[in-house]
Amino acid sequence: MIIHMSKLATPEDQNRVLSRITGAGFKYEVIKGATGINVIGILGDLSQISETYFEDLEGVDKVVRISKAYKLVSREYSSADKVIDLGDDVLVGGPGELAFMAGPCSLESEDQVMKIAAYVSLMGIKIMRGGAYKPRTSPYSFQGHGVEGLKLLATVREKFGLKIITEATGLHYHVNQDGVREKRNVLENVIEYADIIQIGARNMKSYGFLQELGILTKMSKQPILLKRGDSSKLKDFLLAAEYIVANGNPNVILCLRGIRTFEDEKFQRYTPDIGAITVLKRESNLPVIFDPSHSVGYRVNVPGVALAAVAAGADGLLIETHNDPANALCDGEQSVTESQLADIKSKADAIRHLLV
Ligand code: PEP
Ligand code: MN
Repeated sequence: MIIHMSKLATPEDQNRVLSRITGAGFKYEVIKGATGINVIGILGDLSQISETYFEDLEGVDKVVRISKAYKLVSREYSSADKVIDLGDDVLVGGPGELAFMAGPCSLESEDQVMKIAAYVSLMGIKIMRGGAYKPRTSPYSFQGHGVEGLKLLATVREKFGLKIITEATGLHYHVNQDGVREKRNVLENVIEYADIIQIGARNMKSYGFLQELGILTKMSKQPILLKRGDSSKLKDFLLAAEYIVANGNPNVILCLRGIRTFEDEKFQRYTPDIGAITVLKRESNLPVIFDPSHSVGYRVNVPGVALAAVAAGADGLLIETHNDPANALCDGEQSVTESQLADIKSKADAIRHLLV
């Protein structure tokens, strides 16, 4: 439920409304409206409360019930696009430049990370991706270098001024290549190093994890990029985002990465859910990023789908790139080369300029 205060409302009027909310056992969030008039969001199950319970108070203009299952992430709750500020003029969402995030699937070695960071930053890309913790289908596949990988990302940030996005796979304790268990859990480590915390498709439905994530980042409001589960409906995806926001962190970025397909794996790994971009932009105020790499699975298909996503209104792209894709430890087949990435970047920027 949202309470719109009137233009003439005094601070005392607002306080009266707030104490009625807390008195009824609910929490609230005060959103400063663009016109300077406050809007108050009431959080919780309001099915038993009538609008008139608040409408009758002095200074209240109108009370609107949010009809959707997802509340805080909905357009009804806040019509303005959410813009996430990473500092140093790097923004995700809103009417400006596309947010480009590029880098290898996994962080393999200092040499690999530095070579990729050099060409990524030279192209004017501001955010580098790279997995230190890899959610692999097989327990025998490379699981990532853990905290050593995160330290490589910290060096990249220092040397190239790039912002860092990396995945937190859970609250478990990573075991490194030598069988040594890390002292802190994966999320705690990622929180320390990342500018954006990535939550993978496999974890979209790990509700306890999403809850913990919201709570642990409540104070820092560290941005979180949440990927759509490969078999999840958009409503479930938005409700997963709501878990994080309702637990204290409003800075969520939605990321589409393709959904289950009946297509032959040799053509396409997943079906790129391009149409979902327009749905999410309409239903939610959160930024929407598209990951063409995991969507299609083969580098030859990445540029076309990346550009289609930008044309459909995506706020940015998350792309896997590798200096030596043939020898990548993870997702080499879908990693674009340096020249492909440069080509995607310039064409995507051109499409974006036509749109905004
Ligand atoms: C990734 O970005 O490397 C990744 C594992 O993606 P997803 O969660 O979409 O499979
Ligand atoms: Mn990958």
